[in-house]
Amino acid sequence: MADKKEKKTFKAYEPGKQCAKCGARMARHSDRLTCGRCGYTEFVKSESQQQQGKQKK
Ligand SMILES: [Zn+2]
Repeated sequence: MADKKEKKTFKAYEPGKQCAKCGARMARHSDRLTCGRCGYTEFVKSESQQQQGKQKK
């Protein structure tokens, strides 16, 4: 059980979010995602706003 908790500390890198240009995994920041390979930056809203936005269409 303790081992599983340690893995959660790597939450900064969320699998599945990839760079739109080169497909590399992007680093997550407070308000944006950046690609360490090509430098592509994608701005995102805060997590709470993102979830609320999904309910609106
Ligand atoms: Zn990239």
